[in-house]
Amino acid sequence: MEDMLQGALSQLDVAAKYTDVHPEVLEKLRYPKEVLTTRLMIRMDNGSRRSFVAWRCRYDDTRGPTKGGIRYHPDASLDEVVTLAFWMTFKCAVVGLPYGGGKGAIKVDPRELSKSELERLSRAYVHAFAKMIGPDKDIPAPDVYTNAMIMGWMADEYSSLMGYPCPGVITGKPIALGGSLGREDATARGGFYVLKQLEKQLQLNGERRAVIQGFGNAGHAIGRMLHEDGWKIIGISDSCGALHCPSGLDPDAVHKVKLKTGKVADYGSEHSDVQVIDNAKLLALECELLVPAALENQIHQGNVDSINAGVILELANGPITSEADQVLNSKGIVVVPDILANAGGVTVSYFEWVQNRQGYYWTADEVQQRLKPIMEKESMRVWNIAHSKNIPMRTAAYVHALQCLSSAIEAHGTQSYFCA
Ligand code: NAD
Repeated sequence: MEDMLQGALSQLDVAAKYTDVHPEVLEKLRYPKEVLTTRLMIRMDNGSRRSFVAWRCRYDDTRGPTKGGIRYHPDASLDEVVTLAFWMTFKCAVVGLPYGGGKGAIKVDPRELSKSELERLSRAYVHAFAKMIGPDKDIPAPDVYTNAMIMGWMADEYSSLMGYPCPGVITGKPIALGGSLGREDATARGGFYVLKQLEKQLQLNGERRAVIQGFGNAGHAIGRMLHEDGWKIIGISDSCGALHCPSGLDPDAVHKVKLKTGKVADYGSEHSDVQVIDNAKLLALECELLVPAALENQIHQGNVDSINAGVILELANGPITSEADQVLNSKGIVVVPDILANAGGVTVSYFEWVQNRQGYYWTADEVQQRLKPIMEKESMRVWNIAHSKNIPMRTAAYVHALQCLSSAIEAHGTQSYFCA
C-alpha cells in the first residue's frame, strides 16, 4: 500500500498546477504544524495496567483553530493521523469554515475494552493532550469507533481540568452536554445535499441503484436518505460481510439486525431474496452510485478494475488510493471527493461550536437550513472549476481549497512566524 501522506501530497501537487499559488504556500502545506505522540497508561478492570499509543496532529491553523476527529482503531498509525489532519485542513477550506485541520487517534480495538476501561482511556487522552487542545486552539470530534458518549467524557474531563465548563472544546457531544441537533446524520446529509445539487450534472436521473460500503454512522444514514429518495440500495456491507439484493434493501431493517447481532450479514440469513456475499464482491456490483463509508484505501490498484459504478460518493475519508483514482478518472467514473462529499459532518460540528460559544441553541430545522446552502454552493463551485478547467472533481476541490488557504497564508504577512 502506498504511503498515505505521500498519496495526499500528490493530490496537492496536481492541484497546484491549476493555480498560481506561491511555492512558499505549497512548502508550508507540505508539513504538519504540530504532532504529539504519547502512551496512555490506564488501569484495567482486573487491576492490571495497560498502555496504548496515542497521537494528535494540528496540521495547519492559518484559517482558524484546528478541527478533526479522534479515531480508536487497532490499525491506527501516525501516518494515518497526519494524513487525516491534512485532509481536514483542505476540507474546512472547501466549505469555507474558519478552521484549520487536525486529527487524533488511539491504537486500540475499543470492542475489547469494558465501558469503564473505555472511559478511563478517553479521559487519559484528554489529560495527555490538554495543552494541545482547547476551544480556540484545537477542537476534537468523533471519528471511526468513537461516539457522542466518548465526546461527553472528554468534554467533562477537559472542563474538570480547566475548573469551569468548556463545551466548545469538543464537538459531537450528547445533546444534554451542549451537542447540536442534527450532528448525528450531518455527514450523510451533507453528502446527500451534494448529490441532489449535482443530480443533473452527474446524470443520475435514470435507473438508481446504490451500493454502500460500511454501515456505521455515515453509511446507515446515507442509506436511509437514498432509500427515502427512491434509490434502490442493492448492496450493503460492514467489516464482517456484505449483502446483495437486486430488488433493494431497507436500510433501517438491516440496521435493526446490525444493532442486535453486530453484523449486517445476519440479515441475509433471515431473508431468502438476499444473498450474503464477500466484501470484495460488494465493491464490484454494477450500480449507478457507490458510497464508500468505511475506511481509507478500500479501492486500490488491486481491485479498481472491478469497480462497476457510474459515480462514487466518498463519505469515508480517503477510500480511494491516488493510483486507483487515476484509473477511475481514465474510465470516466466520476468521484465526488471526500473533502466535499463528507464535509457536512465538520460543518455541523462548526455549528455546534458556534452554539456552545453563544450559549444559544438551534432547532434541527435551523441546522439543516444552514447546512443545505453551504453544501449546495460549494458543490456548484467545485463542479464549475472542474468543468471550466476540464479536471476531475477531486483536483477541482483541492484547487478551490488551495486558493482559500493561499489567500489566508498571504494575508498573515510575509514576516509572520504565526503561520510559519
Ligand atoms: P463508524 O465507526 O460508525 O462506521 C464504520 C463502518 O465501517 C462500520 O460499520 C464497520 O463495520 C465498517 N467497516 C470497517 N471496515 C470495513 C470494511 N473493510 N468493509 C466494509 N465495512 C467496513 O464510522 P463512521 O463515523 O460512519 O465513519 C465512516 C467513515 O466516514 C470514516 O472514513 C470516517 O473518517 C468518515 N467520516 C465520518 C464522519 C462522521 O461524522 N461520522 C465525518 C466525516 C468523515
